[in-house]
Amino acid sequence: MTGGAGPTRRRDTLDRKLIDEIARLLSQAKSALFITGAGISADSGLPTYRGIGGLYDRRNPEDGLPIETLLSGEMMARRPDVVWKYIHEVELACRSAVPNRGHEILALLEEHIARVVVFTQNVDGFHRQAGSTNVIAIHGDIHDLRCTRCDWRQTVPDYATLAFPPSCPRCRAVVRPDVVLFGEPLPEAPFQRFEAEIARGFDIVFSIGTSALFPYVARPVLLAKSERRPTVEINPATTDLSEVVDFRIASGARQALRAIWIALKGKNPRATRLGR
Ligand code: NAD
Ligand code: ZN
Repeated sequence: MTGGAGPTRRRDTLDRKLIDEIARLLSQAKSALFITGAGISADSGLPTYRGIGGLYDRRNPEDGLPIETLLSGEMMARRPDVVWKYIHEVELACRSAVPNRGHEILALLEEHIARVVVFTQNVDGFHRQAGSTNVIAIHGDIHDLRCTRCDWRQTVPDYATLAFPPSCPRCRAVVRPDVVLFGEPLPEAPFQRFEAEIARGFDIVFSIGTSALFPYVARPVLLAKSERRPTVEINPATTDLSEVVDFRIASGARQALRAIWIALKGKNPRATRLGR
């Protein structure tokens, strides 16, 4: 987990000129794409991929299997109770956390930029909860449930009232979370929506808190770069995109976005109407 507030923690120092330049570009942009990963929710206390409560990192002593097996499509077909057990742990972690200022600022930017798209790999639902309206959650959202047999679907605020594994009220088949499990293909509809957005292009593209390992995460950044659109990375660690982007902010998402937001408000005469 990142971001502990111990006395030995190194304070991030933000480059004001860099922040100011990014705010200037945002103030002129008519469209912006924000690609986000586990790092933006790390600032809400949710561990990144390497450590969902230790889930991704260790073999579970009880089941003796890696998380890639426990949270796989094959396991869902064979032993839905096992998948639900681990998804429930993820949901409990989300339930005790809330979206942070970084998520909020991406939502607030919609008041300022005509077309804002958030493309996230996160399954926590925090962008939606923070108020972003155009969210493409490519790996799904654990709060969206669907029947494995019929077309029944439901979005729940949490799993408090679910019996595990839940069954469909319509046909009694097993209900599953509408997330992409290991070994499953990406869902077509959100992917097509994303492709359509990419085809329209963006004035500025951000990659925030993702290790950017998946090609579909890196590609929009590479594409924007090739079209000479400004690209920004916010990540305390370096990734394959770090050398590619025009602007790199090596700090946490919440701190960086807060600084950009303050600088942006300072540039806009309508500042007071731009929200908190
Ligand atoms: P990842 O764990 O591979 O990478 C996280 C990235 O965030 C790293 O590059 C890290 O340096 C960076 N980071 C850490 N703290 C940060 C902070 N405070 N601010 C900004 N960046 C920070 O995550 P990924 O690239 O999103 O891929 C992980 C996969 O696991 C995805 O498929 C996702 O669906 C899933 N996942 C989801 C959640 C969630 O929903 N919150 C959490 C963990 C994993
Ligand atoms: Zn059903």
